[in-house]
Amino acid sequence: MRGISPVPSYVVMQPTTLCNLDCAYCYLPMRAADRRMPVAVAEAVAVSVNRWAAAGRFSVVWHGGEPLAAGREHLAALIAPFGPEVEHHVQTNATLIDDAWCEFLAAHRVRVSVSVDGPRGRNGDRVTRAGRPAYDRIVRGVAALRRHGLPFSALAVVNDPEPGRAAELYDYFLGLGCEVLGVNIEEKEGVNTRGNAHEAAQVRAFWAELVAAWRRDPRIHLREVEWSLRYAAAVLDGNADGLLPRRLDPIPTVGHDGSVVVLSPELAGFSDPRYGDFSSGNVLTTPLAEIVAGAERSTGWVGEFLAGVEACRTSCPYFGFCGGGHAANRYFELGRFDGTETEHCRNSKIRLLEGVLDHAREHRTPAA
Ligand code: SF4
Repeated sequence: MRGISPVPSYVVMQPTTLCNLDCAYCYLPMRAADRRMPVAVAEAVAVSVNRWAAAGRFSVVWHGGEPLAAGREHLAALIAPFGPEVEHHVQTNATLIDDAWCEFLAAHRVRVSVSVDGPRGRNGDRVTRAGRPAYDRIVRGVAALRRHGLPFSALAVVNDPEPGRAAELYDYFLGLGCEVLGVNIEEKEGVNTRGNAHEAAQVRAFWAELVAAWRRDPRIHLREVEWSLRYAAAVLDGNADGLLPRRLDPIPTVGHDGSVVVLSPELAGFSDPRYGDFSSGNVLTTPLAEIVAGAERSTGWVGEFLAGVEACRTSCPYFGFCGGGHAANRYFELGRFDGTETEHCRNSKIRLLEGVLDHAREHRTPAA
């Protein structure tokens, strides 16, 4: 894997900066302001996306703020320029989902991923703008999805990865009825400056326990664990080198104003005296395909990040599994892009793989 692909596999779009919640660990800087994406931005993005989608599977991920806070009418106007072959996804806190939203999501064939951190007591960080727990509203939204027969994924943030926590988490999501579960250990990013260093043995045991819980009842696709197992199998088969993509997916994030940040949605809306506003261009003046194809050459911090990826390649035994981590984690933890290890990669790559291998060792069948 070297450099950045000129064609992404999906685009992240910010229909509004506004979020109706105010979660304690949120990284978004402008979530109290309702800056909506003009339809002209979506029309400009759609010119490139429709061409990419004609050549193969392609997704648009609507990610805010809270994307549903843009309202049905506006979201429909933003979706309208995209062709029928484009898959739409929404990452939502679910608190606004009711029957009318379910009908909208079904009519526009939007796939839903809900942010919820586990049982009620684990959602203390997810609060309304008035500081009240959001859990009941999240669960009401999920109930509406289920009533309408809409499948959904879930994304959980864990800020205390330790043994005992993982089995509880997995059992909760089995009951919630999601099809896919992603588990994020809280990251220090954007305006969230809370520490994310954890004791290595605890994190490792958390992941090992999560694998055990999943293996007992693997009804949910468990994103991190399934990827780890695929990697472990490829190592055993001797073809792990072919697992990572040949080039990094640029993952362009199109902000509400049309500015484009590649590689890490979390960098959108920030600026730095050394790196400027991190953007690689604006779709209102330059076609998205051109911005993405030129990002590696034209955006200073991207070159620095790629130097960091090369440093990872030569120094880290986990590189084949990880691929060099995320730009935003390096920037927000190390203050630059060409470092290597971060707390994030320790928590979510290194300890994850170690935990999966610990589980395998514990459950191996003795040789006959
Ligand atoms: S685990 Fe960390 S140090 Fe290793 S390749 Fe990934 S980002 Fe780089």
